[in-house]
Amino acid sequence: MRRISIFGATGSIGQSTIDLIRREKELYDIVALTGGANIAQLAADAIELKAQLAVTAYGDKLPELRAALAGTGIEVAAGAIALAEAANRPADWVMSAIVGAAGLKPGLVALEQGATLALANKESLVTAGPLLMQTAKKHQARILPVDSEHSAVFQALNGEDIKTVKRVILTASGGAFRDWPLEQLAEATAAQAMKHPNWSMGARITIDSASMFNKALEVIEAKEFFDLRSDQIEVLVHPESLVHAFVGFCDGALMAHVGAPDMRHAIGYALNWPHRRPLPVEMLDLASQGQLNFQSPNLQKYPALRLARVVMEQGGLSGTVFNAAKERALDYFIAGQIGFCDMSSVVETVLDDLCATTDLIDVDVTLDNVQHIDLIAREAIDALVVHGDLKLVIRG
Ligand code: NDP
Repeated sequence: MRRISIFGATGSIGQSTIDLIRREKELYDIVALTGGANIAQLAADAIELKAQLAVTAYGDKLPELRAALAGTGIEVAAGAIALAEAANRPADWVMSAIVGAAGLKPGLVALEQGATLALANKESLVTAGPLLMQTAKKHQARILPVDSEHSAVFQALNGEDIKTVKRVILTASGGAFRDWPLEQLAEATAAQAMKHPNWSMGARITIDSASMFNKALEVIEAKEFFDLRSDQIEVLVHPESLVHAFVGFCDGALMAHVGAPDMRHAIGYALNWPHRRPLPVEMLDLASQGQLNFQSPNLQKYPALRLARVVMEQGGLSGTVFNAAKERALDYFIAGQIGFCDMSSVVETVLDDLCATTDLIDVDVTLDNVQHIDLIAREAIDALVVHGDLKLVIRG
C-alpha cells in the first residue's frame, strides 16, 4: 500500500485528489489529511479514508475537530507546527495543495523525509524555488508538477533532452475578464472575478486567473521547475483551455498536451507516475470542438505578466516579495479595500521599493530569509494600502 498525505485536503485540489483516491481506497494508506476552517469536510474525509492523523491549520478549530473525530481513533492536531510534524511522518506521496506561502514549510519537510511531492502549491516555487529544488536533490526526493500547464510541459518533455528545448508556451484562459475592455477593469469586483469561464478552482486562484497574477506565478514556477530562462517562457491566451502548454524544440517541433479542463488529469498523472492509468475524465471530441484559438496577452490589461519578467530577471528573493505582496494585495481586494487594478499597482510599488532598498538579490534563499522577507513584503502592502505610505514599514 502506498502511504499518502494530502495537505490542503479540504480545498479544490485536495478534493479532486480525494476523488481519485476514494475510487481505489484499497491501494492507499492515508497518513495525514490537513485543512483549515472546513472541519466538517476534513473530519468526514479522515473517517472515510481511515486517515491516521487530521490537522487543521487553525488552533481555535482544534476543539471542533477533536469533537468531530472523537471515538474514531484518528489523531488530531492544529497549527503550523503540527502541519510540519504531519509532513515529517513517513509517506511515499504527498500532495501539496495548501493555498499560499503557508504551503512552503510542509512541502520542504516532506521532501526532507524523501517523499515524492505532488506540487500544486505554486507559491512554494515562486517564493523559494532554489530552496525547494535543492532540498529535493539533497534528499533524493522528487517533485512532480500538478499545475496543469507544468504537468503538460513535464509530459511533453518525457524522454526528451531539456537542452533541445527552445521555448515553453503556457496557455491562459484569460479568466473572468477576458472579454472586458481595459477601461472597465478598475470597477471589477471580487464576486465578478470569481466567475471563471472554464475551470472550477478555489476562490483565490480564480481571482488570480482574472488578473493573470496566477499566470505570472506560473511563468516563474516554470523557470524554477524546468530551469529555464525568462526569454524561453511565453504565454498565449487560449479561451478554450484545452491545450495546457506547448514545448518547442530546436527542430521547430511543438509538442502540446491537450485535455479537458479538469485538474484530475494532472493530479492523476502525478499520482500514477511513472505509469499512466485510466482516469475519470472526459475524453475530448475534437471534431465537435471544431476550433482552438490563441492570442498574445495584452500586457496593459495584465500587468502581472510584465512584473513576472522583472522578478525573473532580478532573481534572489524578489519572487518572495512578489508572491507575498500579491497574496496581501488579494486579501485587500477580496475585502473590498482596493480595486482590481490597484492590486498590480501596489505589488509593483512594493517590488520596486524593496528591491531598491533591501538586499534581496544576493541573499541566500534560506527558509529564514524567505520568511523574513515575506513578512516585510506583507507589511509593506499594509503600510501602502492602510496608510498610503511605504515608509511606515519597520525593516529588520
Ligand atoms: P482552495 O482555497 O480551494 O484550498 C486551499 C486549501 O488550503 C484548503 O484545504 C484550505 O483549508 C487550506 N488552507 C487555507 N489557508 C491555509 C493556511 N494558512 N494553512 C494551511 N492550510 C490552509 O485552493 P485550491 O485547491 O484552488 O488551490 C490550492 C493550491 O493549488 C494553490 O497553491 C493553487 O495555486 C494551486 N492550484 C490550484 C488549481 C485548482 O484548479 N484549484 C490548479 C493549479 C494549481 P480550508 O478550506 O479548510 O480552510
